[in-house]
Amino acid sequence: METCDALVVGGGPAGSSCAWKLRQLGLAVTVLDKAVFPRDKVCAGWITPAVAQTLQLDTGDYAKGRVLQPITAFRTGLIRGAELENRYQRTVSLGIRRCEFDHYLLRRSGARALLGQPLKSLEKRGSQWIVNGAIATPLLIGAGGHFCPVARSLGANLGAGETAVTAKEIEFEMDPRQRAACPVRADTPELYFCRDLNGYGWCLRKGDYLNIGLGREGHHGLAQQLEDFCNFLRERGRIPGNIPDRFHGHAYLLRGRSQRRLVDDGVLLIGDAAGLAYPQSGEGIRPAVESGLIAAAVIAQSGGDYRRQRLQAYRDRLSSRFGPEAAAAGDRVPGFLRNILAGVLLGSRWATRRVVLDRWFLHAHQPPLPVSIEGIRVHA
Ligand SMILES: Cc1cc2nc3c(=O)[nH]c(=O)nc-3n(C[C@H](O)[C@H](O)[C@H](O)COP(=O)(O)OP(=O)(O)OC[C@H]3O[C@@H](n4cnc5c(N)ncnc54)[C@H](O)[C@@H]3O)c2cc1C
Repeated sequence: METCDALVVGGGPAGSSCAWKLRQLGLAVTVLDKAVFPRDKVCAGWITPAVAQTLQLDTGDYAKGRVLQPITAFRTGLIRGAELENRYQRTVSLGIRRCEFDHYLLRRSGARALLGQPLKSLEKRGSQWIVNGAIATPLLIGAGGHFCPVARSLGANLGAGETAVTAKEIEFEMDPRQRAACPVRADTPELYFCRDLNGYGWCLRKGDYLNIGLGREGHHGLAQQLEDFCNFLRERGRIPGNIPDRFHGHAYLLRGRSQRRLVDDGVLLIGDAAGLAYPQSGEGIRPAVESGLIAAAVIAQSGGDYRRQRLQAYRDRLSSRFGPEAAAAGDRVPGFLRNILAGVLLGSRWATRRVVLDRWFLHAHQPPLPVSIEGIRVHA
């Protein structure tokens, strides 16, 4: 039987960030992922600069042979409504390709990666987890995304009883004719909101790649809304007429909508497995990375005692960083008000910038997670 100090199920941004910090603490970490990397992940591929900062990403090194698209403006509006642009004097966001980003982070983490290997079995023997009948570890970290099998083993009723965001996107390399026919600027992603503000479509150009998609809370009517959205983009001349039609879908939970148990003896959930995406923007990479690092900090402070009571601090820290697990019913604005609010917000350049962009999308009010988290002794 092999052993390791911690086993992370899932090598996305949550899993690799947690593994990276735990490796720096000197732990022997194994990351198990069902996919072989580089792998694609259904995503628009847009990150806020806080992510790069928190991950201490060497952007010069990263940009060698990879897409790292600075974003300095946004074009916004309601679907089939008026559009407006907000420009910034600095880079406020970055466009990345998930196949490159996730692979880079996983390799950099220094963890042992067992790729192309799904979690098949999980057994508890005393204080040890036995994973796939072959690896023994005292600490299991569920980072397998929305359908994480570790979340299931903690009782999550995946797909049922949870209102998830469902989203579909396509990312493709444009040929020279498509590039010429696409007026979307690489530094200016386009965001078009549903009238009930429960979702939005996007068009994001990253170098020669174009990413188009739409996501909204609940799965009802997504295919039809996506088709309407693409027709709208074509009518406005924003995308070439001949885009591929193989859109890929996925789901994930927003913070405040999840009832998942996040911690138990010798186990905790991070990233999408824990349901942490920001409610207004659906940005999930930043919460995934931050939850991975917070988990590592709590593990560092536990002194090797991984009983639920010791790991409970992780849950508390998530609440102070991302708000309560279940948002109060009164926090949800009724439908008819949302329609009015949408028109007011997205009709005004000032309100769009202050509320929609700075607050909801860029989280300008929330400083990056401190890199030297209390309790983490980074080995040089
Ligand atoms: C269409 C769409 C667009 C999005 N756009 C953005 C965006 O632009 N910016 C942003 O910040 N967020 C975006 N998000 C959300 C973001 O993609 C997620 O929040 C983020 O990927 C969460 O990271 P994670 O590491 O928790 O999970 P994931 O990135 O999903 O990684 C989970 C990993 O676990 C592995 N895994 C799953 N099951 C198993 C198993 N049984 N055994 C072993 N391994 C397993 C998977 O192969 C995968 O590698 C978008 C989501 C969607 C659906």
